[in-house]
Amino acid sequence: MYPDEFDYERPETVDEALDLLTEYPEAEVLAGGHSLLPTMKSGLASPDLLVDISRIDEMRGIDHADGTVSIGGLTNYATIDESEVVRENVTVFAEAAHAVGDVQVRNRGTVGGNLAHADPASDLPAAALAADATMVVRGPDGERRVDADDFFFGMYATDVAEDELLTHVEFPARPAATGAYAKKPSPSSGYAMVGVAVSLTVDAGIVEDVGVAANGIMDHGVRLDPVEEALRGTTPDDELVRRAAESAADELDEMMMMDDLQASAAFRAQLLESYAERALREAGDGTGVIAGSA
Ligand SMILES: Cc1cc2nc3c(=O)[nH]c(=O)nc-3n(C[C@H](O)[C@H](O)[C@H](O)COP(=O)(O)OP(=O)(O)OC[C@H]3O[C@@H](n4cnc5c(N)ncnc54)[C@H](O)[C@@H]3O)c2cc1C
Repeated sequence: MYPDEFDYERPETVDEALDLLTEYPEAEVLAGGHSLLPTMKSGLASPDLLVDISRIDEMRGIDHADGTVSIGGLTNYATIDESEVVRENVTVFAEAAHAVGDVQVRNRGTVGGNLAHADPASDLPAAALAADATMVVRGPDGERRVDADDFFFGMYATDVAEDELLTHVEFPARPAATGAYAKKPSPSSGYAMVGVAVSLTVDAGIVEDVGVAANGIMDHGVRLDPVEEALRGTTPDDELVRRAAESAADELDEMMMMDDLQASAAFRAQLLESYAERALREAGDGTGVIAGSA
């Protein structure tokens, strides 16, 4: 299908883009276009104006300074996947970027578009949660910083207003952490039926810090607190990892789990446990404390 007619603007700075979004409340932001254009072609969205932010250089690239890794909202997945800085300091995020779609999608789709769009089956939200990301959001009243835990509200709903942009995502640099993202892709779309992200820091055999979160199971990415609690401060062995993974759905409301033609809620809950175990073991491999394989 063809989309309805729309006007088009291509600002070169964040301020210019924000002025347009303030002036035209019905406008939509166009970044990589890999989620927006399909919704326009199918008639689900018909904005009067597209504000194409893809030429805003201040929103692109990766910086590492003062213990923080900052990724511009327009940075594509391939750049993140190939970045030594991200791989060494925010391993789980590089792993999740690697799992997105195919080469074409990874070259075009952006981290800001993925997180702001918040498709429940996207790969990056769980990794942002597991790595304790901070979202940097700019609007007409200036800049706000939002913890990943407070950013995702529901299906396609985040703490970015229509007149705001997600300009950067910041992460604490954790060179000692290992990370993994285990994904069960949908056979038809390749999106996550379930995906579990783990960031794990082990010191002298003891789990000092652990972040575990999932995509695909609820209407937005969720942190798996019981799994984190079961592991923090322990020296995990095979059995403890298995029990931790089994607790993955303990605090999730079964009635609210995703349930569609791709997979029932009950099947997703099963997938959640086994992919939590898989991600924990993959992350643990690099620490030498978690033995065995799922
Ligand atoms: C064939 C195919 C396969 C895919 N497979 C996967 C997959 O396996 N895993 C996965 O995670 N994703 C997948 N995707 C989605 C892809 O990752 C998209 O790129 C992503 O969801 C949106 O990013 P974008 O840059 O394309 O955003 P766009 O499509 O340009 O925008 C999406 C929405 O976010 C808003 N937006 C964009 N950037 C910003 C910003 N900086 N600040 C505020 N709002 C913003 C836009 O207004 C729009 O509403 C796939 C897409 C396709 C076409």
